[in-house]
Amino acid sequence: MSVKFTFNGRVVDLIIREETNRLVVHHSASHYGDAREFDLWHRARDFKMVGYHYIILNGYRNQHDTYNMKLDGVLETGRPIDVIGAHAKGANPDSIGICLVGKGPYFSVPQISTLVTLCADLSRVYGLSSDNIKGHRNVGVTGTACPGFDTEYLRAIVRRMT
Ligand SMILES: [Zn+2]
Repeated sequence: MSVKFTFNGRVVDLIIREETNRLVVHHSASHYGDAREFDLWHRARDFKMVGYHYIILNGYRNQHDTYNMKLDGVLETGRPIDVIGAHAKGANPDSIGICLVGKGPYFSVPQISTLVTLCADLSRVYGLSSDNIKGHRNVGVTGTACPGFDTEYLRAIVRRMT
């Protein structure tokens, strides 16, 4: 089943996700960015729209911005939560993709705080154990260092919260 909606001023048609078995954490590997920026990058690679479901800002939306504290740790939505994403080849049909803006392991305290809360909330909603929170490098078929840190650290915090 597919669903139509608008994003970044365009109509998009995506497929509903039938299963949700894991949360996959990414980094953008860029020093800046947000959902609109990544939408442009991903569409340039022939994705229908930004591939992540969530993006956690680091305080720099655009390349030449100075740091904006009010944007640090802000959660933005990419794809609707119930459709198949495009973020981890081989793992997309049953996962939710979350992207931290920046290069791992150098994320800010507000970003990690937002990530922990989001992972705990999504784990409750989908009935997932903390073991199902994965780094991109731990799923799918591509060799990648993404997200640049050991997600066992994240699982341990979420385990205490859920
Ligand atoms: Zn990734």
